[in-house]
Amino acid sequence: MAVQTKPRPGAGRIFQSPVLEALTKTHISIPLALFWAIGAISLWYSIARLGIGWSTALTFFLGGMVLFTLVEYLMHRFLYHIPAATPKRRRFQYVIHGIHHEHPRDKQRLAMPPVVSLVLASLFITLFRFTIGPNGFAFGGGFLFGYSTYLLAHYAVHIFKQPKNFLGILWKHHNLHHYVGDDGAFGVSSPFWDYIFNTMPKDPRRREASKVNLL
Ligand SMILES: [Zn+2]
Ligand SMILES: [Zn+2]
Repeated sequence: MAVQTKPRPGAGRIFQSPVLEALTKTHISIPLALFWAIGAISLWYSIARLGIGWSTALTFFLGGMVLFTLVEYLMHRFLYHIPAATPKRRRFQYVIHGIHHEHPRDKQRLAMPPVVSLVLASLFITLFRFTIGPNGFAFGGGFLFGYSTYLLAHYAVHIFKQPKNFLGILWKHHNLHHYVGDDGAFGVSSPFWDYIFNTMPKDPRRREASKVNLL
């Protein structure tokens, strides 16, 4: 569902209260360091303390990273872009994601506040621990490592210039979501799930090119 905002420079304001407003801002280095560290420690803990073989632990770790990319896709598509049918829902959508579409280059709002992400991380690790047993630590570690890597990719796409190598596809894909149509291109760390679920938007330049060819 389209967010009803136009991209603008600078930072927006979500709350009148200065305390609440400050809580919505995060320096990107905090969650990056936090979740990469927790991810690496979970892998180490699985091997060194739980005695799980390194190849098994690594397989679960990578599995957690892959699952994260699916969760990232589903959350962005169905939660962040929740249809804004009522004023309450519109407000909810604005607070969790619309603000980012309105101010896509605001460095301080490219990650959710660590207080929120730490609670979610604990819930996910607990869920994995109780569904797949001790391997849940390595799996959860990979999941959080995937989250941190996604944060870096998202930050880089909005703040740095598109590189002239294979990573450029991430810039192209996410810019389609922001500047062409936010009813597609929901994957940020890769376009993979957009291909699987058929939410790849048409690149307008390609559309123009095919029109020219038809004439
Ligand atoms: Zn973005
Ligand atoms: Zn979005």
